[in-house]
Amino acid sequence: MQLGSQLQRNYDGWLLFFSALVTAFFIFIYSSLTTHHIAAYNHFDVHYQLQTENLATISDVTASSQQWLEIEEPVNLGMKTAPYWFRLTLPPTPNEQGRFLLNINYPLLDNVTLYFYNPRTKTVVSQAEGGDKLEYNKRSIMLPSLVYVVPASSEGLLVYLKVKTSGTLKLPMRLWEAHDFLAYSATDNLMLGIFLGILVAIGLSNLFLYITTRSVTFFIYSGYVISLAMTITALYGLGYAYLWPSLTGFQGQAVALFANATLMFAMIFCNLILNVQDYSKKLSKALQILASIFFINVIISFFLPYAFLIRVFLVLLAFSAILTLSIGVWIAYKGSTIARYYSFAWCVLLVSAFTAAVDNLGLFDSPVPSNYLLMLGAGVETLLLVLVLAIDYSHNRETMLEIKEKTLKQEQDILKAREELLDVQQQYQDDLEYKVQERTLELEVALRELSSANIELENLNTIDPLTGIRNRRHFDKRLLAEGRRSRREQTSLSLAIIDIDHFKNINDTYGHSIGDACISHLAQLLQSVLKRHTDDICRYGGEEFVVILPNTDLEGASQVIECMRREVEKDTLEIEGHQLNMTISAGVATAVIAFEAHENALFKHADTLLYQAKKAGRNRIQTDNFTGLTS
Ligand code: GH3
Ligand code: MG
Ligand code: MG
Repeated sequence: MQLGSQLQRNYDGWLLFFSALVTAFFIFIYSSLTTHHIAAYNHFDVHYQLQTENLATISDVTASSQQWLEIEEPVNLGMKTAPYWFRLTLPPTPNEQGRFLLNINYPLLDNVTLYFYNPRTKTVVSQAEGGDKLEYNKRSIMLPSLVYVVPASSEGLLVYLKVKTSGTLKLPMRLWEAHDFLAYSATDNLMLGIFLGILVAIGLSNLFLYITTRSVTFFIYSGYVISLAMTITALYGLGYAYLWPSLTGFQGQAVALFANATLMFAMIFCNLILNVQDYSKKLSKALQILASIFFINVIISFFLPYAFLIRVFLVLLAFSAILTLSIGVWIAYKGSTIARYYSFAWCVLLVSAFTAAVDNLGLFDSPVPSNYLLMLGAGVETLLLVLVLAIDYSHNRETMLEIKEKTLKQEQDILKAREELLDVQQQYQDDLEYKVQERTLELEVALRELSSANIELENLNTIDPLTGIRNRRHFDKRLLAEGRRSRREQTSLSLAIIDIDHFKNINDTYGHSIGDACISHLAQLLQSVLKRHTDDICRYGGEEFVVILPNTDLEGASQVIECMRREVEKDTLEIEGHQLNMTISAGVATAVIAFEAHENALFKHADTLLYQAKKAGRNRIQTDNFTGLTS
């Protein structure tokens, strides 16, 4: 609405300026060039007669006693297809031949035969053919309207005219002095030339606008203006004179063809420029149907008689003019600026057409001839519609720019939202990573704690609860590990199996708990003998102990175990008032581990040696180097 009022403010001045300019231009040219062409003889005494069978030739007519009917000037019988005879009386035109010209200024008459007849001598002085059923270059005077040279006669001649036409039978006649006719003709041609020039220029410029902008409205308008120009060209006989001089058949249909095309484009243009569809689908459809009917008329205008076509056209024209003007006014009333200008343009054309019609009928004496009035109306209308088109185009462009801007802003908003989302995502991810790191750290700590707990548990598992030294489970692992090391490093591994002598007796004598205490005591005693941190003593089971001495040869091992035996021998355990002495026997075996399970065999061998020591009397050690091959 705001945009609409802005446009109104901007263009109202231009609208008035345009109309005034075009009107002034036409009036100026007309008045400056036509003041002196006052016709000398304007009023004729015209009679007419319908031709019947017996009035085919001039002699039939002159011999006939049939009554002539009087009619007034300008002669207009309306749509009459039958041939008519006219008779008019010329004033005396003495002196030189060719001073006077008789002009019938209606170029659409089909067949005109004219006779200059001397009533006194009852002879035909001269005769001429005319009308647009005759090829143009066969005319005596090559002008779009019919012009005849009046023969010199001091008595006043009669003119007989035989006219047959398919459209309106009009005879706007004038008797001119030749030099006046020249001036009139020049002005008339100039006016027509200017008018057609404007139309063609507008038509072409709109065609170019269509080519560059691809806006169909320009094309339709171009079609409208060019069709209008062609209609005028045909109406004024210019097309016949200059464009299709030998196509008499086409000339007969040209007005119907171009007029229908003009209206077809006018209907489409109205529909497009006023956006009728947005206001009423039915009216838009009606305009489309009208345009189609005009299109069909264009096609059939090649085949059907002109008289029929032009009648249909005039009915449709009246209907279309009223319809489009009503639509324009209605849409203008709804607030459309373009519709206001459009309606104004139509009004200008209709008012000028109305004035021309009134002038034609002689009801009103217009200072400007009716054909010029029509041209003026059509000219102003055409220019106003160009203005409407320009406004519409700029309006559309503004709307388009607005939409573009809005779209751009929306895009930017979307982009911004997306960036924000990305930020949020990034932050969320950062948070998540931080949390994961935190949890991982916690988990690592927990794992580490768990693993040390495991180690502790493992340790606990390998400790013999009674003696506090390692158990058989630890020994098995240690034996495997030291066996591998010995094999790898080629060092001697010594094993000793120690068994308390006659322990059963102690148990039996003092009871199991004292027995246990003895085992425990002995374990501590034996351990105290070991000095290397790699040396290890484990309780193998019951009252048996195993000593593992890595990197120790048989001699070294024998010394260590012998030392143990002695320590036990001289030790006395005091417990619950008893004094207990114990002895031990041991088997000591040494080997450099050379093959798989060699260490197990070494252990078995030590056991065998222990058995031998027991057998040999106990409280002794039995030693042997064990290659593993001999046993
Ligand atoms: P030898 O000189 O032939 O070894 O005679 P021994 O009596 O020591 O015979 P053996 O080694 O066959 O007997 C072991 C005895 O040790 C059997 C069992 O009563 C006793 N014993 C085994 N383990 C324990 C233990 O953990 N606590 C106690 N109190 N006695 C045990
Ligand atoms: Mg035993
Ligand atoms: Mg024993």
